Amino acid sequence: MEIDKERPYWGHRIDVKASVWVSRPGRAIWASVCKVENAKLDRGFFDDPEEEPPRVSLTEALAEELGLTFDEADELVDAQVDELANDEGVVHGWLFDFSDLDLTARLRRKLERKHSDLRVTVAPYFFDRVHGRDSQPRRHYVHGDQHESEPAKYFCASCDLFVSADHFEAEHAGETEERFFASMRAWQRRPARSKINVRRPATASNLIVAAATAQRAAREATRSAFNRWLEQQLKRNDPVGDLARDVKGDRTFPIAEGSRGALEAYFERSGAVPEAIRAFREAWREFQAAAARQEAGSSVQIGQ
Ligand SMILES: [Zn+2]
Repeated sequence: MEIDKERPYWGHRIDVKASVWVSRPGRAIWASVCKVENAKLDRGFFDDPEEEPPRVSLTEALAEELGLTFDEADELVDAQVDELANDEGVVHGWLFDFSDLDLTARLRRKLERKHSDLRVTVAPYFFDRVHGRDSQPRRHYVHGDQHESEPAKYFCASCDLFVSADHFEAEHAGETEERFFASMRAWQRRPARSKINVRRPATASNLIVAAATAQRAAREATRSAFNRWLEQQLKRNDPVGDLARDVKGDRTFPIAEGSRGALEAYFERSGAVPEAIRAFREAWREFQAAAARQEAGSSVQIGQ
């Protein structure tokens, strides 16, 4: 079953206090008595400080939650973690994403077997018992986030200050959208172990997100077919992969340019080494072959 995001619910937690007596009446005979002292439903309504569960490290919490050994869980504390909340801001869980970690094959298989995925959702109170977590975690602001108690102020990550709304256009025209995505990426990629006592609500209001998203969509729309193809080669471990990564990191690259001659001229102008030019020619050949295959495929479809 999927969680109902409008009415997040994680089942009941029952706190049990029990005593166990073990005696050894004979050499190979053990006897034990278990007595339940107290068992009650934890409705989460009462904040009795004396009944707080003992604090554990993030590694221990992950080990228990995911059914792993301590050493295995220790491989996971650098994972990406995101708060999951509904539109009203009610947190209904945390999503750990282990897919980008350099895990041992054994642990990877174990996680996939137990959780059928490398992205695992845990309960909303997961962090509550982790050492270092306060009841009011520190608020993290990304570029353009509105101040929680002073609505006229927004965070500028370039200046590391809270500023008024007109500051972004006045001081950082043309670069503030890019800055927003960089600031957001940095927050999302921040490892779980450094997010224990900081939070940014999934519903945080931000001055720049709408314009930045629109600008990115407009930029995407102008990209040439070659540029799109090249981006799909990012993970290759060869000169074409190197080229794709260089192009992605080059903010002045003419992404709309679709002519081979113009692109080669750009590489030469920007001082590319001969290997890079060769990689570009190879990439272009492959791109053309892929485009031709696609065209053949679609004309077959039309013919049918
Ligand atoms: Zn600024």
